[in-house]
Amino acid sequence: MTASHPGPGSPPPGDPALEAHACDAQRRAYAPYSKFQVGAAVRMVGGEIFDGINVENASYGLSVCAERIAVFAAVNAGARQLAAVAVCTEASPPASPCGACRQVLLEFAPDPAAVTVTAVNPRGERRSWTLAALIPDGFSGKELP
Ligand SMILES: [Zn+2]
Repeated sequence: MTASHPGPGSPPPGDPALEAHACDAQRRAYAPYSKFQVGAAVRMVGGEIFDGINVENASYGLSVCAERIAVFAAVNAGARQLAAVAVCTEASPPASPCGACRQVLLEFAPDPAAVTVTAVNPRGERRSWTLAALIPDGFSGKELP
């Protein structure tokens, strides 16, 4: 399938290298319960890429999404400024990040309007947004005293 056609104001086409990282990671996902395997990759300002996979648990509520694992790997390595995100699932149309992950991505986005989030599947379908579009008026540390 071809890429979706972005309209005026849509984010630019995605980052093929980042999308490839997400789809490589997807194969390592640990999702024996939902069978919904997710791979994510984040590109940080400076260009470094970190991958994540969803990791489920028999106690379902302990499961963690791929996007958060990718962000936490970046932060653990000292990279705190998010530039772009790619998420790879089998879903058609490709699945966007959940609300919890959107909030975590926002924490490390210096400019949410400049962070592109692209959802893909291994069959080449893709959708993309800015992070600002996915979590408008999101809560941030600026709200805290
Ligand atoms: Zn999530």
